[in-house]
Amino acid sequence: MRCKISVLRSHKFVQAKQFATTVVQTLQQAGYQALWAGGCVRDQLLGRIPKDYDVATNATPEQVRQLFGKRKTIAIGASFGVITIIGSKESGNIEVATFRRDSGYSDGRRPDSIEFTDAREDAIRRDFTINGMFFDPVAEKLIDYVEGKADLECRMIRAIGDPEERIDEDKLRMLRAVRFAATFEFELESKTLEAVQKHAHEISAVSAERIGAEMRRMLAHSNRALAAELLKDSGLLKEILQDGEQLYQNRANWRTRVRWLKELGDQGSFNQAAFILLSRLIKQQGIGPSVERWKLSNAEADAISWLESNLLTLSHGHQLAWSQIQPLMINKNTAEAAKLLEIQFGKHHEGVKFFTKRLSCQIEELNPKALIDGQDLATLQIPAGPIYSTILKKVREAQLDKLLSTKEEAIQMAVEINSSIVD
Ligand code: ATP
Ligand code: MG
Repeated sequence: MRCKISVLRSHKFVQAKQFATTVVQTLQQAGYQALWAGGCVRDQLLGRIPKDYDVATNATPEQVRQLFGKRKTIAIGASFGVITIIGSKESGNIEVATFRRDSGYSDGRRPDSIEFTDAREDAIRRDFTINGMFFDPVAEKLIDYVEGKADLECRMIRAIGDPEERIDEDKLRMLRAVRFAATFEFELESKTLEAVQKHAHEISAVSAERIGAEMRRMLAHSNRALAAELLKDSGLLKEILQDGEQLYQNRANWRTRVRWLKELGDQGSFNQAAFILLSRLIKQQGIGPSVERWKLSNAEADAISWLESNLLTLSHGHQLAWSQIQPLMINKNTAEAAKLLEIQFGKHHEGVKFFTKRLSCQIEELNPKALIDGQDLATLQIPAGPIYSTILKKVREAQLDKLLSTKEEAIQMAVEINSSIVD
């Protein structure tokens, strides 16, 4: 399966690359300057598959639309100088952005206005040197005004220009700096790191959606432990968790959580990592504030709170009646819980061994079919009402605890429970 997905991905990548080359060629043949820009140039130099290709040009948005035709373009981003060229299903679309200079970031996030300019100025408005390069796919030539290649070679995340000014313009860059440093395992250049540390408290200017999106990308990545450490060292974690950082001031506790993040490994999920970072906060404040701060989806919030509420119970399932632990073991979050239990308590812990053994049982054994249902109670002429769920729950518990094993025994018990309640 994995193999099939990677073949599909690489097919898509070839198509996207081809289309991005064709778009550049079309612009160049019409007499404009056109280059690949930003992340795709960086990824190509790193030998990674780019998520998408962006093209930068000196053609204005109107000229781009004229050249490719209205039917083949989308102009939603035209006010920022961006025209989307519609590609095939395989290649995807390509964004063509006119070289621009951004000015007046009064909200600390977005430029108040933009002006069209040349490639050099378009490079220096970008965030980090490794993200500020261009590549001409026709001439096969790198255009590097910001010494991005040198930083790529020495594995360094460095702001373009004055780090404090750049962060002051757009506070999101602080999180992007940490994300790139952690996911690429690059160093955060000292002045850039100092600027993040100095301005970390201003991260609140960034919307919860954007903070959440960055946190998702960092915590879904196998380098999530590195990201967490960098977030802490840069002062961002304290701000992102708000009053939560005192929870991690105990060094031993923090080291333990970082170790857990590391042990999640390649298969770890965002929910598991978020649980590791947020569980103590959730215990104190409930999930609400975390939902607000990271704009967690309902599914994420449910899964993370479920782990918080049930992991401890699951860790001593061997000491509980099976009827108590079984409903937790058939929950959809059990697989995520399994790894967390192993990390927290170790493979040889009695509770973990019990959990792993039970989880590997056949489904008929783990979750046997109920011996009776509401229809059977109706046949017994028990009047419908809340009593049904009480009876069915008790009978189910008895079934799971192997106190009864046949339908007749279950019916007998239902009758007894009903008469004891009615009496
Ligand atoms: P990835 O897509 O892998 O996250 P990327 O670098 O391509 O990384 P995008 O968000 O796709 O990131 O942005 C494309 C390019 O736009 C970046 O490489 C960078 O040059 C520029 N850019 C993006 N966000 C910012 C920002 N907040 N400030 C300055 N430049 C930015
Ligand atoms: Mg990108």
